[in-house]
Amino acid sequence: MDKEEIIEKLLAGEMKLYQIDKFTANATEALDIRREFIERHSDCKLEKIADYTLDMELAFAKNIENPIGTVQIPIGVAGPLKVNGEYAKDDFFVPLATSEGALLASVNRGCSAITAAGGANARVIGDKMTRAPAIKTDSVVEAVKVKQWFEEKFDELKEIAESTTSHGKLVKIDPIIIVGNYVYPRFVYSTGDSMGMNMVTIATEKVLAKLHEDLGVHALALSGNLCVDKKPAAINIVEGRGKTVVADILIPEAIVRAKLKTTAKAIEEVNVAKNLIGSAAAGSMAFNAHFANMIGAIFLATGQDEAHVVEGSLGITTAEDRDGDLYFSVNMPDLPIATIGGGTRLETANEGLQIIDCAGSGKVNKFAEIVISTVMAGELSLIAAISAGHLAKAHQELGR
Ligand code: NAP
Repeated sequence: MDKEEIIEKLLAGEMKLYQIDKFTANATEALDIRREFIERHSDCKLEKIADYTLDMELAFAKNIENPIGTVQIPIGVAGPLKVNGEYAKDDFFVPLATSEGALLASVNRGCSAITAAGGANARVIGDKMTRAPAIKTDSVVEAVKVKQWFEEKFDELKEIAESTTSHGKLVKIDPIIIVGNYVYPRFVYSTGDSMGMNMVTIATEKVLAKLHEDLGVHALALSGNLCVDKKPAAINIVEGRGKTVVADILIPEAIVRAKLKTTAKAIEEVNVAKNLIGSAAAGSMAFNAHFANMIGAIFLATGQDEAHVVEGSLGITTAEDRDGDLYFSVNMPDLPIATIGGGTRLETANEGLQIIDCAGSGKVNKFAEIVISTVMAGELSLIAAISAGHLAKAHQELGR
């Protein structure tokens, strides 16, 4: 079938979009036909979406279905940002992809204050990726038997899970929650440099096959929402998910005045009123000003799973006036990130990771420390701007 015939069939609704690939030599040819069909269907020209540099054969193999091209987002850098981590010990220019004007300028100002004050102290304190299936039994009594099966067989189940991966480790199955006749075991893994969702899904599936073999019980859903993947949840805040990271800095009074144009006292007051009391009054799960801005921009620049911004947005910012100096900290309990696998293999994302020397194996903890330091720079700058009454002025000056 040639291109015209395929497009005619698509327009007539006689062929599905995913069937194009059966009639083309490769994914790129199918992509071009699919895009031309959309142009005719929607009566538009997609010249910019068609103008890309990514290897779409590679992307089609693992990252996208029904491709028609790529979207482009401006990418910039903020820095230098000095990080005194356990893994990241250097000055970094951090890649940020966004269409939000003033974001990079603001993060850059935070980087400048942090670097002048000697750098951000950052540490990774937790590493867990989770999957929690929903298992249906007949009764509470049966549900308790299933819970006991997981507890008693843990060593054997660990071996089964780990037989599917050379990098994943099953750390624990905990908590195991029972609601009526439903059981929710939360499988907790360490996943090395990968974010790990595919990895832990495959490993957990193999354990569930053993459950069926031993007790004849089926999982209703491989993810029973106790994981909790891509949704804000208290269990992720308390137990941690992805990387759990903390960072702080003590900024001398002179630098607070010179770089942030405000005082430690004013920053402390704004932080209490806004990030702590305001968030509490709203019933918010995120006691911070705008983690999601920095997380979203870093995730887009480095090929992270963008839906995990919702988890990365959780966390608490603290600020304390210490005799004129500013003690400032951020805590991020739920940061699912990777330097291997997923979207990090796409060329532009991989180049983004290369800017901070975080592409590939053995880099994920370094990346986590740079991410939280960047988040702290953004928090510091925004809260300082609010406290100095600078925010509206800055937006006006940038013409936005
Ligand atoms: P992946 O790209 O399937 O996994 C990376 C694989 O790389 C690992 O399984 C591992 O193989 C291998 N690897 C090589 N060097 C490694 C190293 N140093 N550290 C860790 N692994 C290494 O992706 P993933 O990270 O498991 O999952 C990420 C993807 O899952 C994203 O594309 C995301 O959008 C998607 N996702 C899936 C679900 C789901 O439910 N399935 C949910 C949300 C997101 P071995 O296992 O053989 O060691």
